Amino acid sequence: MSNLTSDEILSVNNDSSQKVSGSISQHIDACDYSSVNHSIDAQNHAYSDMPGYLMENCELCPRKCGVNRTQGKKGVCGVSSDMYVARAALHFWEEPCISGTEGSGAVFFSGCTLKCVFCQNYELSHGEYGKVVSVERLAEIFLELEEKGANNINLVTPDHYIPKIQKAMIAAREQGLKIPYVINCSGYETRELIHMLDGLADIYLDDFKYMDGEKAAKYSGAPDYPERAMESLEEMVRQCPEPEFSENGIMKKGVIVRHLLMPGMVKNAKQVVDYVYDTYGDQVYLSLMHQFTPLEKLEKYPEINRRVTHREYERLLQYAMEKGVTNAFIQDGSVAKESFIPDWNGEGV
Ligand code: SF4
Repeated sequence: MSNLTSDEILSVNNDSSQKVSGSISQHIDACDYSSVNHSIDAQNHAYSDMPGYLMENCELCPRKCGVNRTQGKKGVCGVSSDMYVARAALHFWEEPCISGTEGSGAVFFSGCTLKCVFCQNYELSHGEYGKVVSVERLAEIFLELEEKGANNINLVTPDHYIPKIQKAMIAAREQGLKIPYVINCSGYETRELIHMLDGLADIYLDDFKYMDGEKAAKYSGAPDYPERAMESLEEMVRQCPEPEFSENGIMKKGVIVRHLLMPGMVKNAKQVVDYVYDTYGDQVYLSLMHQFTPLEKLEKYPEINRRVTHREYERLLQYAMEKGVTNAFIQDGSVAKESFIPDWNGEGV
């Protein structure tokens, strides 16, 4: 096989995007949410008391801390049941089929169930940052983002607030929200948590950081990450089994698995590609990223205290291409810099 370049993977993406053309407003009008609304009715009934009960003895995520977040206690995620949002604005740096030219309506939540030593959003993930918002206000925020032209509502690290977010998702749909919901999550979820989003989530933008449990333990304090990531992905694909796009290439439904290549970890990255592609083939889009930026002091982890080299990234791309991966997104060389990270200035909250 001849050497395959990054451009060739990009051209694969472009080809798939070129299958469709038209305006986003057409896409929005064309979306059929009748089946979604049916599920929403069922979920409204099933989860009518949701904001309280799952946070009183919180086992929402694989950490299963068992703390009463409704009384201000905090587990590993670092947040009580108060829902903190740091920013809600149009975001242009997701995959092309998510951001498009109009932007993705990204809502960034505080706290995180993972504690990655290399976290790219440290302020946000390590505690209560931003403003507390109610379920009602969150639904309003979704509608405001749609009004601003967002292609979708992109819920960034929502896991630990899902019972409340679920309510807001339902409320906004009932008030006429038409654009898809994107669940932008870490991969470290229980199957049950993802199941709670059945009928609500349109797109999963799912991290898959590790197939190597030792690395997951060392860098994210989650030795069971690979198992949880495999389980949650299975449920995501069950809900969204086939990718669907609007006429102009904006995703309407589907699963995108992101893998952030870490320094010296090409083998782990290949294992992720192997698992995802061998299990799901073209059902799932792969997004292979090299924007790892050693923002925090990583003296204790000198082996990852650098950027990913061009050679490492090319090795991963080459591997994916040789496996036959065609549904993939890749990054060019200009993204690994701090300016890529948004300001957490409370915009839109
Ligand atoms: S959501 Fe937070 S408090 Fe609940 S189990 Fe997970 S880390 Fe613990």
